[in-house]
Formats: sequence, C-alpha cells, structure tokens
Amino acid sequence: MATKRIFSGIKPTGHLTLGNYLGAVRQWVTAEYEPECALFCVVDLHALTVEHEPARVRRLSRQAATLLLAAGLDPARCTLFVQSHVDEHTRLAYLLECTATDGELRRMIQYKEKAARAQVSGEGVRLSLLTYPVLMAADILAYEAQEVPVGEDQQQHVELTRDIAVRFNQRYGHTFTVPRATLPAVAARVMDLQDPTSKMGKSHDSGAGIVYLLDEPGVVRKKVMRAVTDSGDGGVLYDRRTRPGVANLLDILAACTGGDPAALADGYSGYGALKRDVADAVVELLRPVQERHAELAGDPAQVEKVLREGAGRARELARPVVDRAYRAIGL
Ligand code: ADP
Repeated sequence: MATKRIFSGIKPTGHLTLGNYLGAVRQWVTAEYEPECALFCVVDLHALTVEHEPARVRRLSRQAATLLLAAGLDPARCTLFVQSHVDEHTRLAYLLECTATDGELRRMIQYKEKAARAQVSGEGVRLSLLTYPVLMAADILAYEAQEVPVGEDQQQHVELTRDIAVRFNQRYGHTFTVPRATLPAVAARVMDLQDPTSKMGKSHDSGAGIVYLLDEPGVVRKKVMRAVTDSGDGGVLYDRRTRPGVANLLDILAACTGGDPAALADGYSGYGALKRDVADAVVELLRPVQERHAELAGDPAQVEKVLREGAGRARELARPVVDRAYRAIGL
C-alpha cells in the first residue's frame, strides 16, 4: 500500500481524451492508495482562464468526475473532489502570487501558446491565464503532495511549483513539501492524429484528430484509420522527430498493449495494418470505461455524494497547511 501523498487534476474544458487517459488518468487508477494519500481534483477554476460558458463548465465538471470514476478511481481508496468546493486553493494561491514573479509566469509555454490564441481570436488574454500556474501550485502544495502524476505538457508547471515551494520555505521557514512530477514511460505526450506536431488537447477546436473517451468504436476506428502518417521510405520506423505521425500511433499502441514502441515498429511493413491494430487496441481499452460510464451516468446523485464527501476530506487536509502558510508569511 502506497503511503506517499499524490495529487493531480483535470480541467473541465472539454470531453476527456485518449491523451488525458494515457498521459495522466491511467497513472491515477493503477496504484493502490488510501483516501488520504491520493487526491484527484476536477480543477474547474482553471476552466475559467479562457472563454467559457457557465452551464457548460458545470456540466463538464460532473462529466469529468463521472468519467474518472468510470476509468477506475475508487472513492474508497482516493479523494475525488471539485476544486471550487474547497476554498483553501484560492486562499493559498494569493500567498503564492506574492512569492512568484511576473517574468516566471510569462515564460510558461502554455501561457505563450494560449495567450497567442486568445489574442488572434480577439477574445483578450484573461489575467487568470497568466496566474493559473500559481493556482495550480496551490492545488498541489495545499495537500503536501510528494508526487504529481501528469502528462509531459504539465511538467513545466510542476517545476514552477517546486521553485515556488523552495523559495517560500527559504524565506518564511519550512512550510511546504516540495513535489515532483511523475510521467508515464510511454505516451506522456499523445499527439493529435490529424496534426502530429501538436498535442491531442480536449479544448482544441477540431475533433477529427482527437479520440474522446466516449467515442463509439466506429468513430474511434474512423479517426485512427484517417490519422496522418508520414511520407518516406523504409517502412514503419519509430522516430518522433522525423516520423511524428507513425511514432504517435506506435506510442498509443505500446501504451494500450504494453511493450516498447520502437520494438513494435519491427512487426509492421505498412501503415494500414498498424492503424488497424491501434484502432482495435484503443477500442478494447475504452470498452470497460464506456460500460462503467453508462452505469454511473444513470446515477448522478451518487457522483454528487462522492464529490461532496471528497471535498469534506480535502478541506480537512488542506486547511492546516494553508493556515500554517498564513502564519509563516506574517498574517
Ligand atoms: P487538456 O490539455 O486536454 O485540457 P488538462 O490540462 O486538463 O488537459 O490535463 C489533464 C492531464 O492530462 C494533465 O496531467 C495533462 O498533462 C494530461 N494530458 C493532457 N493532454 C495530454 C496529451 N495529449 N498527452 C498526454 N497527457 C496529456
């Protein structure tokens, strides 16, 4: 039984994807935990950093929680809750904003990408888009998490969290546990099937290159069979730089079936057979999740109960840590 504390979260900005599952959620469900050791959060405040529709955020929050349970999170073994139900996150975020710098936040890759997109669309860049990694640091530090299981795109934010924690501890006395990111061995960055140079992201506009966890088998097969592959001779090779499309398919196959993506490549002479095997593997991976989701979706009251109890437990864990930080900083 693991005794270390882990925390991770997911934003309700769209329907959960295969990228979310292979990069993050699968790491959350495979370990054996006790409720106080493993905290998983639907980080709804983070969904407000870009253009949002209130009713949709609320609906997607519940849908994300239901899918996490369907994916295998066991409420008897972990704490599942919604970020906005626990005030300690925003209470702590302000103190951490007083510890982080503007320059540090402007260097974040996600900020640069999303701010550029918001500017192009004419939407304007919300201030919270800049400060969101500090709120994420608060999410993690409030629970004294030692490990943060995430996909590769969140690694930089966890590094920032470490920097903030170390700096706070140095200035104000030991207050926070310094966490580290843990990434899956394969598929830490699942790429869009139509544009294998950008990650498969749930909030991206086009759904054609994104496999959603609730996609029906026929839809999954169609998306995988139409995946962009790379031109070039030499058959099926695993090279993420020069053959990103094929490497992505091999990563997905390796993550679904076990094994090493480069070794799997040797078994194929053409893209068609590879795509068929990837489609089969993804359909099989998603089948049990979709079956459990169908059952749980019929009982929203049960999901609400899990979230209410989760928030209660999370609050109890976070409050003393945040109170300690307030005292340390001079309040
Ligand atoms: P999104 O970018 O889809 O909105 P979130 O920011 O909610 O995802 O991230 C939830 C978790 O899923 C994070 O740990 C993140 O690193 C992981 N994740 C998101 N997209 C991918 C991807 N394409 N490949 C691997 N992991 C991913």
